Amino acid sequence: MILMNDFKRQAQHWIEEELVAMRRVLESGWYVLGEEVDKFEKEFATASNVSHCVGVANGLDAIEIGLRASGVGQGDEVITTPMTAFATLLAIYRAGATPVLADIDLETGLLDVKSAERCVSKKTKGVLLVHLYGHVAKMDEWVSFCKANKIELFEDCAQSHLAKWSGKTAGNFGSWGAYSFYPTKNLGAIGDAGALVTNDANIAAASQSLRNYGSAERYYHDRLGLNSRLDPLQAALLSVHLKYLEESTQKRREIGARYRNEISNSKIRHLAAPQHQENHCYHLFVVMTDRRAELMQHLKEKDVQSIIHYPVCHQHQKSVPSILQDQKGLARSEKFAKECLSIPCHPWMTEKEVSTVIQALNSF
Ligand SMILES: *Cc1c(COP(=O)(O)O)cnc(C)c1O
Repeated sequence: MILMNDFKRQAQHWIEEELVAMRRVLESGWYVLGEEVDKFEKEFATASNVSHCVGVANGLDAIEIGLRASGVGQGDEVITTPMTAFATLLAIYRAGATPVLADIDLETGLLDVKSAERCVSKKTKGVLLVHLYGHVAKMDEWVSFCKANKIELFEDCAQSHLAKWSGKTAGNFGSWGAYSFYPTKNLGAIGDAGALVTNDANIAAASQSLRNYGSAERYYHDRLGLNSRLDPLQAALLSVHLKYLEESTQKRREIGARYRNEISNSKIRHLAAPQHQENHCYHLFVVMTDRRAELMQHLKEKDVQSIIHYPVCHQHQKSVPSILQDQKGLARSEKFAKECLSIPCHPWMTEKEVSTVIQALNSF
């Protein structure tokens, strides 16, 4: 089976270096925050071209902490997309704020600025933009939209490690960017991990306090924070994985380019290509079809795994019985959720496996 992710192959390549890193942490006798976390934070800030990085326990917490550091809470509205991981939405609720769903662009799956415009109210504090599948697009429009409406721009970068727009890395366009290092992400830990990046020293300081019980100075708690500290063990492993991120991103782009050029079947549509190669880091490669169940079955018979990101729009989640949304509705996200399908696209795939996936799609 050609898998969506192949962690055993990853381990084969990295295990010696990982063991060295783990041993260093074990022998250091220091197991919460500390030097390893500082080191990884500096390295990831450099890789993302930001001035501050704050390591936290996971991507969900990174978003919640970012929102709270920006003063978003009770009574505030945050505009976001229904086509994302549930964590995006959950973080807004956890910060005490109210999410408002805007519709997406069918060509990319990304949030649509015109729909977002209809969602702006007096209570709107910001837009939480998701660089879905690793695609960073139209950032000039988003920056001027937020400026014109005097609201903040927040970036959910959980899928967009190292993706750039006009030479600027994701996470640099608004108040902060939230990263997840969940194992499947382009930069993955061996378990849960996340980080918030920002160029604003106040946001960085607030986030450092929020991840550590709302305390900047031991025993003094200025905020009701979380316990959301990045483990030094994960930080040490992430430092190893980060060394290969540029290379593995390039590999993903090569696979993405082959899929775009070579997958050709009248029953399958491609999403809009990124304007420039740097705009996409291919966390996921997604195709569209109105015969999805059949295609999935066909791929399975050809020994190719496929997964849906995402089959359920968040307006339909049982935990959110009523949610504010674009008055024109969310029809495009509904259609997208019925047709999108992710196919294997990870850096450990061989050329031959990529060819097999292409043949499997073309023979449908
Ligand atoms: C993975 C993901 C998250 C959540 O990250 P966790 O580390 O799993 O909490 C948030 N947003 C998006 C878009 C994601 O893909």
